[in-house]
Amino acid sequence: MKRLIFATGNQDKMKEIRMILGDLDYEILSMKEAGISADIVEDGKTFEENAEIKASAIAKISNCLVLADDSGLEVDYMDKQPGIYSARWMGEDTSYDIKNKKIIENLEGVPDEKRTARFVCAVAAAFPDGKVITKRGTIEGIIGYEQRGENGFGYDPIFFLPEYGKTTAELSPEEKNKISHRGRALELIKKELEAYN
Ligand code: IMP
Repeated sequence: MKRLIFATGNQDKMKEIRMILGDLDYEILSMKEAGISADIVEDGKTFEENAEIKASAIAKISNCLVLADDSGLEVDYMDKQPGIYSARWMGEDTSYDIKNKKIIENLEGVPDEKRTARFVCAVAAAFPDGKVITKRGTIEGIIGYEQRGENGFGYDPIFFLPEYGKTTAELSPEEKNKISHRGRALELIKKELEAYN
């Protein structure tokens, strides 16, 4: 069976990736399972650039098909911040409780129609021959007025989906995967890999 490496150290992402890409004709390995460790500087200016930097670097080292993702939250009222800096925003070690409270505070008094935001995810597939394919998935929502829900991670408790009447932290993992930015980007990449076979 052909092998594919997903360039992440995040076990939750690996689970999601295995759920979505599991029926492809590839054995899916994490970096650890592939015996690769690399410290890659993500200095791209877009989600796509960062995903491509990671995937290409690991493809070079491993001589294998490598997938990598980069994701974040864009808040329109904050000029699309934190964007590609979502993990690092206010400092990598600052808790999401504090980060989420800060975003709610920044939007104090701002009406619903100006509270628009989206989660973005770019997934890059780097082939050993140097070819790279990148796909983007997004999910649109608004910034809530308080943190709600226990599921998910990061900015989920403040990302409210009006059509569900819930934040993404109030969705089950299965519900979230079906509609999430990462789920959508992975489905698009899956189609490309099926076509490449
Ligand atoms: P990375 O793609 O692993 O670098 O993650 C980027 C950051 O974006 C995460 O640490 C979170 O802060 C945020 N983020 C990305 N996807 C989600 C999500 O599905 N829910 C909540 N926060 C997210």
